Amino acid sequence: MTALKWNYDAQEYDPYELPEGVELHPTANLTDKIVCASCGKSILYRNSYNSLEIHNEGGFGYLICAKCADKEIALFKKNRKGRGNERI
Ligand SMILES: [Zn+2]
Repeated sequence: MTALKWNYDAQEYDPYELPEGVELHPTANLTDKIVCASCGKSILYRNSYNSLEIHNEGGFGYLICAKCADKEIALFKKNRKGRGNERI
């Protein structure tokens, strides 16, 4: 299944092949296991985070594990320096 992954350098989405077993809305049960959309590891639904980078076409974030979320947040902060202060 293909999703979209934000490319900070290009400032646009790249096509992204999801790891096997990833679903956008995997379960309603917090104690169920799901698959991290970034590294493909099995994690508990209640320990998952919304991805800042891996989205569907409607902009919804796929679920990822804490380690991948840490990496995404670090990248987000790095790329936010010098940006985001513009007012509309
Ligand atoms: Zn992960």
